[in-house]
Amino acid sequence: MIPKNPEKVKAAAANPARPGEKCQAEPKRWFPEVDRGRCEGKKDCAEVCPHDVFVIERMTDEEYAGLGFFERFKATVHGRMTAHTPNADACRACGLCVVACPEKAVRLVSNV
Ligand code: SF4
Ligand code: SF4
Repeated sequence: MIPKNPEKVKAAAANPARPGEKCQAEPKRWFPEVDRGRCEGKKDCAEVCPHDVFVIERMTDEEYAGLGFFERFKATVHGRMTAHTPNADACRACGLCVVACPEKAVRLVSNV
């Protein structure tokens, strides 16, 4: 589990562009979607998520193959590291990950 970064949490919480329901949503109502072509595995999302939704790990061969030419180049430079969401069911839509990501690679998607 990636340790939280209190400074990044504070900055993300104060960002007026934060989407979602400020952590009041029912579980499974929202989930974060990661744009594989944008994500550089920088882990800010994991550092701010209060519910440990993200893990940072090497992308699968299938994910890598699905990228465009320049995205594959970028992914290679970053060791093919990316954010996966194995604990997406725990998301409560605080929106912190969306505004914390320096690559604008995360969006919150509603299930309803
Ligand atoms: S989604 Fe954004 S914050 Fe999360 S690992 Fe990827 S680049 Fe970093
Ligand atoms: S919106 Fe969901 S995935 Fe993103 S930081 Fe909040 S709880 Fe975690």
